[in-house]
Amino acid sequence: MPKSIDSTCIQHPGFQAVGRCKQCGKPFCSQCEVHGPTGIFCSTPCKNANEVFVQRAAQLDSMSKKPSIIFKLISSVKSLIALVILIIMLGVIAHYFGVDVPVISDMLGGQTPAEPTE
Ligand SMILES: [Zn+2]
Ligand SMILES: [Zn+2]
Repeated sequence: MPKSIDSTCIQHPGFQAVGRCKQCGKPFCSQCEVHGPTGIFCSTPCKNANEVFVQRAAQLDSMSKKPSIIFKLISSVKSLIALVILIIMLGVIAHYFGVDVPVISDMLGGQTPAEPTE
């Protein structure tokens, strides 16, 4: 009967389980439950193991994830600025070679190199 295993405490087969251990997933009764800062557990070893796990996960999170997100943001902004500069430079070069680029012509003071009035 898998249902009775699910609903009764693993240490007290006659007792109704009130929840599942956050660390090992086993059902526990109200007499066995151990409350910790990270959740409710079937035993103190499980509570301690989960606390260590959560602390380690939080450390890894603050050490690896946050700087990489900032680094990615900075590098993407840098590449975006480089791309914009490249486009402007290409436009300026095109302008000096006689190609009329409206945006660049406005930037350089509205001077068009060749007036098409004949
Ligand atoms: Zn447990
Ligand atoms: Zn129990």
